[in-house]
Amino acid sequence: MQVRQGRYTAVYVSADMEGCADVVHWDEVKPAPHDAYRRTRSVLIAEVNAVLAGAFESGAVSAVVNDAHAAMRNVSGQGIDPRARVVTGASKPLYMLEGVTDLAPPAVAFFLGYHGAVHAQEAVLAHTYSPRLIFACRLNGIPAGEVTLNAALAGHFGIPVTLVSGDQTTLEEAARVVPWAVRVQTKRSLGYYAAVCLSGQEVCERLRAAAGQAVAAGAQSRPYRVATPVEIAIDTLTTAQADVAELLPGIRRTGGRSIVLSAPDMPAAYRLLRALLACNAAISS
Ligand SMILES: [Zn+2]
Repeated sequence: MQVRQGRYTAVYVSADMEGCADVVHWDEVKPAPHDAYRRTRSVLIAEVNAVLAGAFESGAVSAVVNDAHAAMRNVSGQGIDPRARVVTGASKPLYMLEGVTDLAPPAVAFFLGYHGAVHAQEAVLAHTYSPRLIFACRLNGIPAGEVTLNAALAGHFGIPVTLVSGDQTTLEEAARVVPWAVRVQTKRSLGYYAAVCLSGQEVCERLRAAAGQAVAAGAQSRPYRVATPVEIAIDTLTTAQADVAELLPGIRRTGGRSIVLSAPDMPAAYRLLRALLACNAAISS
């Protein structure tokens, strides 16, 4: 297929943190006034700016960056390329993809600093949304991490994912669901708490070059659309969590720690998942 360079001029960046260069421990990504988190925050900001630079150099005319990690206040107002708008704060219905509907189509989505799914082996800080709630997760029967679920949500809105960065397990998941995406490996995870890492500078150079390719790749890509109605099957960590989950409309109990979220489409399923995460955070605090 012919690449129509410059046609995909709106770029959406969902910025997580665990998959950034050098990160191997929760201490480094947990918002707190300590040096490890401050350092990772600057790494994330540099990586966001690297993809923005590459995208704007390659014809992008607008960009939205959604802070998608933890309390989602990691990059706001701190030296992000002024050509981009930043979505900040955690209380947002589309959560890791808030703002994805604000772009003038055709647009492409980048998943930056993503990490392995909860079931992934040799994956630094592998989890799916909440390591305190979700023990296993399947989307329409397929094991799913955040790459898969977020790509399916972007796909519902007609937006293809054309860049994914993270460790090798993150990129393997991306290769399964969005094979057209440019993949940037930031490290080779050896386990949950160890990795062989590229330097931050090298990662940024690769991200900048990849972002240019990823803008152009829009024309060769397609949105990742899943069959509807949508089912997200989740195993919770405890039966107490499943006790609460089954009270929510749209969630049915299928076992002691097993629940299924049913919804007519991905946005509705995602909102239900978001409500489940909020409920668990509330009863855990
Ligand atoms: Zn995160």
